[in-house]
Amino acid sequence: MNSIIMKKGLLIILSGPSGVGKGTVRKYIMKHHSLPLVFSISMTTREPRSTETNGVEYYFVSKEEFQRNIDEDNFLEWAEFVGNRYGTPKSYVEQLRNEGKNVILEIEINGAEQVLQKVKDNRVISFFLRPPSLKQLEERIRKRKSESEETIQKRLAKGKSEMEKAKNYDFVILNDRIKRAGDEIVSIIKKFDAQ
Ligand code: 5GP
Repeated sequence: MNSIIMKKGLLIILSGPSGVGKGTVRKYIMKHHSLPLVFSISMTTREPRSTETNGVEYYFVSKEEFQRNIDEDNFLEWAEFVGNRYGTPKSYVEQLRNEGKNVILEIEINGAEQVLQKVKDNRVISFFLRPPSLKQLEERIRKRKSESEETIQKRLAKGKSEMEKAKNYDFVILNDRIKRAGDEIVSIIKKFDAQ
């Protein structure tokens, strides 16, 4: 009997403090590498930044709609981050992985912990992206020019405590240069997938 067994797609977690450059590294990987990779678009209650489009970076929803999705158990994980909520749609991620597609989650630390606790198959790989220094983290957050001073301070304080969680991940990647960090992640994913 001929049967083709399709491998379940990888679940790739890319986490790290706010402002470390997760989005930039992820976009670099998707643009410059031929890995079949789908970005999981999260839902958030945060207001869109001027550079963001609904359905591209996030699905921007009301607090009520977010709550409804919690009540209906639609999230693989969700977390509150500096006053807003962010969550990963469960069925979308599952469907893509069952189709053999690799899915990348770009999420903060609490959410990453939930995913690592919940998803126990051996096709999960986690990366913690770390900044060269806290000074550089601050510079990156300030460069976005989208947050108030109060929010910047909250994000920085959170970033400092988040750095201690790096040891819970399969790989810690230094984001000194986007290309170098992105290429390192891709070579690890390729090795992992070939096993
Ligand atoms: P930002 O407001 O800067 O876009 O995101 C704030 C933090 O939430 C970032 O660390 C970002 O990676 C994270 N984040 C984005 N989407 C999700 C999600 O679906 N779940 C969780 N737990 N964190 C997310």
